Amino acid sequence: MTKLQIKDLRKTYGAFTAVEGLDLSIEQGETVALLGPSGCGKSTTLNMIVGLTDPSSGDIRIDGRSMLGVPPGKRGIGLVFQDYAVFGNMTVRENLSFGLKVRRMTKRDIAKEVEKTADLMGLSNSLDSPTSVMGGSQLQRVALGRTLVTNPSILLLDEPLSNLEAAMRNEMRQELRRIQKQTGQTVIYVTHDQIEALSLAHRIAVMDRGRLVHYGDTHEVYHFPKETFVGGFLGDPPMNFLPGTVQASQTGHRVDIGCATIDVEATPLGLSLQSGSKVTLGVRPESIDLLDVGATDLGAEILLIEQLGADTIVTLLLGTHELKLRSTQNVSHHIGDRCSLCFHPGMVSLFDAETGVKLMASPVSKEIAA
Ligand code: ATP
Repeated sequence: MTKLQIKDLRKTYGAFTAVEGLDLSIEQGETVALLGPSGCGKSTTLNMIVGLTDPSSGDIRIDGRSMLGVPPGKRGIGLVFQDYAVFGNMTVRENLSFGLKVRRMTKRDIAKEVEKTADLMGLSNSLDSPTSVMGGSQLQRVALGRTLVTNPSILLLDEPLSNLEAAMRNEMRQELRRIQKQTGQTVIYVTHDQIEALSLAHRIAVMDRGRLVHYGDTHEVYHFPKETFVGGFLGDPPMNFLPGTVQASQTGHRVDIGCATIDVEATPLGLSLQSGSKVTLGVRPESIDLLDVGATDLGAEILLIEQLGADTIVTLLLGTHELKLRSTQNVSHHIGDRCSLCFHPGMVSLFDAETGVKLMASPVSKEIAA
């Protein structure tokens, strides 16, 4: 069942367009991350959903009903920000009760709901503690609990973990996943942190300069980005990009990347590439194998080897292009060594060199020829 539907949403400030033609549909019980760099329009979108900012055009529907003109308090949306906004002069119980008292619920019902939420949030033993003595992650639990207790139709989380230190962020990420699973709550999670988006969301909406660039499940958005922007924004290290030129071949298509030619299959949609057209080939660091020199015709030189615990990041020079490889295996090569590379079949993407838009769904690298 569709919970939230956003249609052709637009927000302009004078001549400046902050959000452009945004279409987004979120299902009941789904967690969707709105992800993008600073200034891409996440907060503007969020504020339009909540009702704090009026759209210039377009529509926002919750449970099929248009929210245009509906005041924020009547949209059934619970909002949690990064700065906890917890009442510091109240206990946890008083904080959790607040929204229910405003709704004039009976004392007995309030006590029942507060205890249920405290249990969900792991706050049962702190109900009578003053929030003034609590630390970051506990305060965020109170803030989240105070919103969840009101049983919102949609929960909007705006960078909720940004103020927490790394260890607390990890703990709260796990907690958010558990809470979402337990409650089946529909969640929109606004973040510029890709790890949060990838680990928490069912689907990710990547925004760039007011546009929704890619909306899909985490696997698809990560491995088969629709634009070079997405491949470059997601991943650490990000996707490698190699400029190339399409060559016609009897078996399909080939991309000449200067130092080698890579065979790629045409897309299942039958898109055929013009011979001579300029493309950008994208491959993730973990989709490249490091082999002994001579194993393939894709020869490279090792510039740097970084051991990062479980992973090793290898910086390579392929022709005139630097690229990064991630390996979970022990790397026996050394800096300065020559080696061979193999791009994993099916894990190479092709983009239009000029626009950065994907040309093929997931072309299969069949063989690598010099
Ligand atoms: P951040 O992560 O830094 O909050 P964001 O992705 O949430 O960024 P927005 O705050 O939505 O981005 O801003 C999108 C663009 O709209 C920015 O260029 C911002 O300067 C502009 N903008 C936002 N509000 C206004 C306003 N009231 N008047 C003019 N421009 C605005």
